[in-house]
Amino acid sequence: MKAVVFHKRGGLENLKYEDVQTPDIGPNDVLVKMRACGLNHLDIFTREGSHGVHAPLPHIGGLEVAGEIAQIGNTVKDWRVGERVLIGPAIVCGECEYCLSGYDNICPRRQVIGVNVDGGFAEYIRVPAKILLRIPDSLSFVDAAASLTAFGTAWHMLVTRAQLKKDEWVLILAAGSSIGVAAIQIAKELGARVIATASTEEKLAKAKELGADFGVNYAARNFQHAVMQITQNRGVDVVFEHVGTTTWEKSIASLRPTGRLVTCGSTTGRWGKTDIWSVFYKHISILGSFAANSGEIRAVFEFVAQKKFRPIIDRTFPLAETADAQKYLMERKQFGKVLVVD
Ligand SMILES: [Zn+2]
Repeated sequence: MKAVVFHKRGGLENLKYEDVQTPDIGPNDVLVKMRACGLNHLDIFTREGSHGVHAPLPHIGGLEVAGEIAQIGNTVKDWRVGERVLIGPAIVCGECEYCLSGYDNICPRRQVIGVNVDGGFAEYIRVPAKILLRIPDSLSFVDAAASLTAFGTAWHMLVTRAQLKKDEWVLILAAGSSIGVAAIQIAKELGARVIATASTEEKLAKAKELGADFGVNYAARNFQHAVMQITQNRGVDVVFEHVGTTTWEKSIASLRPTGRLVTCGSTTGRWGKTDIWSVFYKHISILGSFAANSGEIRAVFEFVAQKKFRPIIDRTFPLAETADAQKYLMERKQFGKVLVVD
């Protein structure tokens, strides 16, 4: 089969579109023909070996995979060849204290697709049948793949971790990212008031179409000052963080007393300066969040299937052009999801 492989970690030039052995499946596995695979910054960190991510080599990235079942293992009962499926983003143990308490997204033995095991930047991918979800007829492969991590992750952040409520103010950073467009829709569904940031007026106009009440161009002005102006010096109840070093200090300063900052990422860097005084004096909560548990993923995927939430697709690239797709994501030109298709 054809796949996009890297044999050593580093720059985009390490991504090679080449012939590799089609994976053999075990009795509990299925082989899935990839039709669409969403791109994430995690793919870039995996290829670079940055942010503490160390995939085995050689490696195939890609963690948001939708496709058709091409082959099934002899003990697999509930699936048939030809069914349209979405691949859950991780294989978990199902028996540790985290798995048993509803936090299987932080299972210490989890293997993330495209990170710890080979992923979807390939014609075929092998996965255990237990992590498959059915794609309803109402959704295309591209829409299904585009929904997997963004809506689940944003839901875990806003609903489970930050417990965002009706009429609260939420600041959503980098609204043009796929997680940002998911967060705007979830926050509006909860009845919150949304301030979205983006780097261009065009992206802000699209964020408003999705329901954002206010837009702030962070390239043109200090977003913390804008937040204070919009909220009449009160600050927001919740900050939706995933940017990291470049925004961290201003994000904390944008919170009202008793506010919650929830973060799932550090795209611009892992280290941020924290004014400890303001954290205790203002009763600030800093909440970490990683991915979504399997129950949340199924629940939000159901909402997408019912068209309550709408995946926003920026652009698709052919599988052979995965390196160009990653470059495009790194340049942050997109509004919504970037995917490869085959
Ligand atoms: Zn576990």
